[in-house]
Amino acid sequence: MKYEGHISSATDAAIAEASVIVCDDAAHEHDPVVGPIYQTSLFTFKNFESMRKAFAGESSGYIYSRVGNPTAHDFERRIAALEGAEAARGFASGMAAISATVLSVVKSGERIVAVRYCYGDAYRFFEKLLPRFGISVDYVDGSDAEAVEAALPGARLLYLESPTSMVFELQDIARLAKAARALGIVTVVDNSWATPVFQKPIAHGADLVVHSASKYIGGHSDTVAGVVAGSAALIAAINELTHPFLGAKLSPLEAFLLIRGLRTLPLRIKWHMDSALLIADRLRQHHHVAKVHHPVYSNHPGRGTLTGFTGLFTFEVDDQVDVVRFSDALKYFRLGVSWGGHESLIVPVAASLAQTPGVNSFDRFGVSPRAIRLHVGLEDVEMLWADLEKAFVTSVKS
Ligand SMILES: *Cc1c(COP(=O)(O)O)cnc(C)c1O
Repeated sequence: MKYEGHISSATDAAIAEASVIVCDDAAHEHDPVVGPIYQTSLFTFKNFESMRKAFAGESSGYIYSRVGNPTAHDFERRIAALEGAEAARGFASGMAAISATVLSVVKSGERIVAVRYCYGDAYRFFEKLLPRFGISVDYVDGSDAEAVEAALPGARLLYLESPTSMVFELQDIARLAKAARALGIVTVVDNSWATPVFQKPIAHGADLVVHSASKYIGGHSDTVAGVVAGSAALIAAINELTHPFLGAKLSPLEAFLLIRGLRTLPLRIKWHMDSALLIADRLRQHHHVAKVHHPVYSNHPGRGTLTGFTGLFTFEVDDQVDVVRFSDALKYFRLGVSWGGHESLIVPVAASLAQTPGVNSFDRFGVSPRAIRLHVGLEDVEMLWADLEKAFVTSVKS
């Protein structure tokens, strides 16, 4: 099944470009087709002089795997290439990448401007941990460029996520990064949704790009990991401060799984796109669906940096639909957080409302309790659609 509705030639070009990068291989002893997992905590030296050189930074020798590991570097090199960045650094999770990145830039007394509907744990990090260090965060409607620009003077960091989690609001990355740069403010973009295949924020002026590699990059729901890409200078600051001392390094085994995931990322992402857009279009026409939140339907200028679309989006059912019965009627869409793997998933927002109110609840993030987030996986799309249709039939109140 090939879905043509929203696919442009830019999509095909982005897929082709990424395909070339992910098949690039590092040189390894014996020329294996798959690089080895350097499952070692430390590296030894032949003599005093080679150890001295490694400590002095005069050789590229590895010393200790918390600080650097060849398998992790193979992954980091590929992400830097995909993002068009000078350097990248892997982490044990997306949140480790986000917190280490933010803390490498801001100091006590400084201020962050962040998009209001950012990823929930990024928001909780801003609200619960940063105040302890005297760092404050102002939230803005990221889709309103003038509102963001008005909040910028005096800030140190601009935190974007385009599109945002749950409601998929877009930001004009190029315009906002330019405004931030003029004021000496560092722009960070969470690019997990689009992946480096479909959006390259650095080419549009962003300074640092963070990812939850647990999602599409890993792609098989077997790894929690993160990565940040950016200029050599900004990644060096992370390497000197927050990566070694907070210590949330990417493990060699997980780096191996991520490299394996990257091999098929361009292929998978196109499949997710085709299936998700078909399902989103059909949901949009469904008489019990009030709204579909997917960036493909937006005419915001922030759409201009996306060369394709992925499979995570939210729809709101009308009040005729019993959300509990709907969720339980699904067979192929399983109930589960996260996304980006082979399997289709749903998160009914209503199920999460019992979390601690305030910073833990989805109502903070502009989502209706009648909303259901879908991740459209790699299963046959007509089978997935039949599953959703059956759930509607089962759950409409008579
Ligand atoms: C999952 C996610 C994160 C956090 O990543 P982890 O790997 O779970 O730590 C950050 N941003 C977005 C948009 C996410 O979906």
